[in-house]
Amino acid sequence: MTKEKFNKYVMPTYAPAVTLIKGKGTKVWADNGMVYLDFIAGISVLNTGYSHPTVVAAIQDQAEKLIHVSNLYYTENQALLAELLSDISLGGKCFFANSGAEANEGLIKLARLWGHEEGKYEIICMKNSFHGRTLATAAATGQDKVKVGFEPMPEGFIHAEYNDLESVKSLISEKTVAVMLEAIQGEGGIVPATDEFFNGVRSLCDEHNILMLCDEVQCGMGRTGKWFGYQNYDSVPDAISIAKALGSGYPIGAVVSGEKLADVFQPGKHASTFGGTPLACAAAIATIQAIEAEDMVSAAVETGKIFEDGLRGFVKEFKHVIDVRGKGLMLGLVLDCDAKPLVDMLADMGLLTLATAGNVVRFLPPLNVKPSEIEEALDMLEDCIAELHEDSE
Ligand SMILES: *Cc1c(COP(=O)(O)O)cnc(C)c1O
Repeated sequence: MTKEKFNKYVMPTYAPAVTLIKGKGTKVWADNGMVYLDFIAGISVLNTGYSHPTVVAAIQDQAEKLIHVSNLYYTENQALLAELLSDISLGGKCFFANSGAEANEGLIKLARLWGHEEGKYEIICMKNSFHGRTLATAAATGQDKVKVGFEPMPEGFIHAEYNDLESVKSLISEKTVAVMLEAIQGEGGIVPATDEFFNGVRSLCDEHNILMLCDEVQCGMGRTGKWFGYQNYDSVPDAISIAKALGSGYPIGAVVSGEKLADVFQPGKHASTFGGTPLACAAAIATIQAIEAEDMVSAAVETGKIFEDGLRGFVKEFKHVIDVRGKGLMLGLVLDCDAKPLVDMLADMGLLTLATAGNVVRFLPPLNVKPSEIEEALDMLEDCIAELHEDSE
């Protein structure tokens, strides 16, 4: 019923599998009676799990008081959230938007405005990166599949090899305004930047007076065992974009800057009708409070370690499993073959994961996933890999 109506009236940008009806913690229920352990969690949106009580209460309370006002007026929640985000990241100021793509669009415009007087506008992005589906963020994305059919793409984006400092260096010119990267590439297949690369990019940016921008949309908000992915390294970017987990599923995105870029946007230069509404900010404040109260950032380190160790065991045990990549609870199991059959089999058994970059099974469970749920997932994985492995002998 739902499926028929959905397929009749919703544009087929996705090909959904089952109909989900409710969620709690790491579990989600389908209308066909299946209960899943969700190790993809809205693709790193539900870092606090489904329906965290702190977030639910905050949304309910705020909805009764004030859902929306225009940004022509001050609101307390936007100030509170900006302070929280500034404190846990770059110490500068915030601009609020509604999604990852929109946050990145803001990041790109911020960089261009900063470089405008000197005629600098070009942004060096990374191959295999993902920054969104608007035209500018698709242009920034280092994957052809998001661009094909939509040409001409906006100008001003070129692409270097990720984890190859020489490649970045060779693209720097008098037009370059920024280097933009993910500390850990998500859609690209869970690929962490090496220390040498990440810190090297910072040095290059300093040498050439260009900005370092980090897309923290997927790897931010505690996911990697730090509040933000860049905090796994010694270098600090000039600005970051955040979205996905920021509102625990309530849409909100943000640009956070360091001191240098804090006052580049002036009235009239950038805007968003829904950016930072009292309701969205209430959801995000509650998300940060829940993560702090339950120390979920440390949990991502500890539970991530248990999970990673278990996954590493499969590299030894199974010949088609060749590597484990990632940090904290952002992990990828790398196969020497297509990951889709395994992902489909896992879903049939009750574990939701995602195939990424062809041969990688991606895991992004809620940060408060229980160690017992990690064990359950590892058991299902072992059974499924063993069965697939047997078939391929
Ligand atoms: C998901 C994602 C985006 C896009 O976010 P939307 O909210 O879908 O626009 C951008 N960058 C990264 C790294 C992402 O993972």
